[in-house]
Amino acid sequence: MKNLLETIHNRLNLNQNNLLTIDLFDEFLKENGIAISDTRIKPLRTYIKNATEFISLQPKMDALYTGTNEQFVQRLLEKQLIIPEFSFFRDHITEISKEVQSNCNGKVADYIPELKNIDPNQFAVSICTVDGQVFNFGDHETDFCLQSTAKPINYAIALESQGETYVHKHIGREPSGKRFNEVTLNDQGLPHNPLINAGGMMCCALIEPESSSSLRLDTITKVWQQLTRRKPLVYDSAVYKSEKLTAHRNYALAHLMKEVEAFPTDTDLEETVDLYIKTCSLKVNTANLASAAAVIANGGICPFTHKHIFSNTTIKDCLTMMSFCGMYDFSGEFAFKVGIPAKSGVSGAVMLIIPNLMGITIWSPNLDSFGNSVRGVEFAHKLTERFNFHNFDSLIGNCPKINPRIRKKVSKVKETID
Ligand code: GLU
Repeated sequence: MKNLLETIHNRLNLNQNNLLTIDLFDEFLKENGIAISDTRIKPLRTYIKNATEFISLQPKMDALYTGTNEQFVQRLLEKQLIIPEFSFFRDHITEISKEVQSNCNGKVADYIPELKNIDPNQFAVSICTVDGQVFNFGDHETDFCLQSTAKPINYAIALESQGETYVHKHIGREPSGKRFNEVTLNDQGLPHNPLINAGGMMCCALIEPESSSSLRLDTITKVWQQLTRRKPLVYDSAVYKSEKLTAHRNYALAHLMKEVEAFPTDTDLEETVDLYIKTCSLKVNTANLASAAAVIANGGICPFTHKHIFSNTTIKDCLTMMSFCGMYDFSGEFAFKVGIPAKSGVSGAVMLIIPNLMGITIWSPNLDSFGNSVRGVEFAHKLTERFNFHNFDSLIGNCPKINPRIRKKVSKVKETID
């Protein structure tokens, strides 16, 4: 491999004195969507930052940036990241975000009293590609609760620990055609799918049922910490308490499932509902959620750490469910028009997954009559009108939409599940 600094010197537009300055390097990172805090380039960046003179190209220097992911930097320098013209892409996303921001229709969810207090004007969009290129627009540092965007992850954790056959002995795989919290089960007396409330509670019942409730929450939280690289990641106790006090429908559903013996024997109903509400109350921002979405888009592997958080078969199952059950009773229309696996939650969060390319999250609390974020849905429509991201756009010859990606040549490093 060529000396990294030599390549940087060759690729970057250095200043008139042929100096590689930290400002130039940071500008280059920004242009490519790489955060300056990205651990893959951190030692190299620190080295460049601390160098006061022209950086000589001595191979010995390599030791000074040990810990840098050289393979990644080489690809970055060679414009081999999945979105090579990232600033072009970012400009389009900014334009769509601004258009969508002017839509003030809808209203915030009020059946969970604490959610009524949210400022409906807040709006954020975050992107994270499978190569860890990031972009944030708007209130991306403001926390909100996951609500139903927790469900695909609870489903994935249940699949990892219990296997598909066992999980689907307890949960169906069909859209329900009913509201997400309707007190109803399928003909077999099971939740219709893992992404509505009954299925969400069932997934919670299947996660480490033999452990204490605090350990089970700990397991779920640790997965979210890996997905988001955010620590600590905690639940919002005000939202949790507020939902717990008013969760009559969820209790009704859980009692119905208990009565018809849908749960595995020995399931503690109270603990299950409590764990479910806590996972819905976990706090993230759009940047965190986009990072989690990028892991899903990347087949279960974190783009930044290369850790294998979920197996690719788990992700395949999860994406399949998201493709037809993720957007409440609008899922069919969404699959038809937008064609991207997605999940929304009543906090106004929407998570979009473009497999092998990127995760996108939108947060805006005003909801439509289905319970989806109004701006989130509009954003998704505008996105796939402009880019060839619909699942089946590849079938359209001479598709007039923009294709911002390049085919990935480098095989991914796979590590064992930790
Ligand atoms: N915690 C909410 C409930 O159980 C989640 C609903 C949602 O976001 O779809 O009603």
